[in-house]
Amino acid sequence: MKNRADKSPDYLASSSNEEQRFNSSTILITGSTSGLGLEIAKEFAKNGYSIIFNGLESDGQNIANAIGEEFNINVYFSAANMLIPSEIYEMVNEGIGKFGKIDVLINNAGVQHVSPIENFDTEKWNEIIGVNLTAAFHLSKAVWQGMKENKMGRIINIASAHALVASEYKAAYVASKHGLVGLTKTLALEGAPYGITVNAICPGYVKTPLVEKQITQLSNSHHIPENEVIEKFILNKHPIKKFVNEESIGKLALFLASHAASMITGTAIPIDGGWVAQ
Ligand code: NAD
Repeated sequence: MKNRADKSPDYLASSSNEEQRFNSSTILITGSTSGLGLEIAKEFAKNGYSIIFNGLESDGQNIANAIGEEFNINVYFSAANMLIPSEIYEMVNEGIGKFGKIDVLINNAGVQHVSPIENFDTEKWNEIIGVNLTAAFHLSKAVWQGMKENKMGRIINIASAHALVASEYKAAYVASKHGLVGLTKTLALEGAPYGITVNAICPGYVKTPLVEKQITQLSNSHHIPENEVIEKFILNKHPIKKFVNEESIGKLALFLASHAASMITGTAIPIDGGWVAQ
């Protein structure tokens, strides 16, 4: 295990005791061996956090080790399946065993399936609700007591613009993400007396493996090239005609984890190029 870097978050110049507590923090990010979760992990790694990685990618351990090496931080990897509650609780217990506490939880693991309702596969519905919503319930429950005892905690749920507005053919995804915002608000109220804040980040489209898969599927089903799919089905949602940059989501998460954000709780913050303003 590496010695951890002792850096302050880039934009938090204060060296008060409160900030120092955040600088020696541990974060657990689900689904952090791919896409958005991995980018968020890099942002926290730059700022010296110890990181508990999780994800189903077969090279997850190597990905976690590489980030540990690059940023000189402590890392731990768990392949816990977010559909299996006993694995979730085991991951949290192992993480606490390794690092003593979990200060920040990011519920990021997510899956998608696109289908008209009459053909929507029930197993897909259960998987999406399980990974995108029920896992966040179990994880919040698992870290709650420790955060309460520490009188400090941050839970950040990676929801979606689809937590605030719908699109056709995404019944399970939209329902799960709307549910995640409901969970966010409820836990924000329950956490308020204990210094625990709970917020949701609601990204528009980010070009990650999850979205690349959708682009390929749409290209095949509509018999049009991928650049046309991006223009007609993806960026048509964004008044700012660009993908959301994953780094900006990492920086927003880092801010929400900081002491400066201690009065922000129960929110669902869009970062979506103007999508939900329409
Ligand atoms: P991704 O496919 O690149 O990453 C998803 C991660 O979740 C992977 O690490 C995967 O292994 C993990 N995962 C999936 N099922 C799991 C399970 N059962 N157990 C453990 N881990 C599991 O996707 P992404 O785009 O980076 O998505 C990350 C989050 O961001 C998701 O919650 C997604 O809904 C949300 N989001 C993404 C976008 C976007 O445009 N990419 C937009 C809004 C919200």
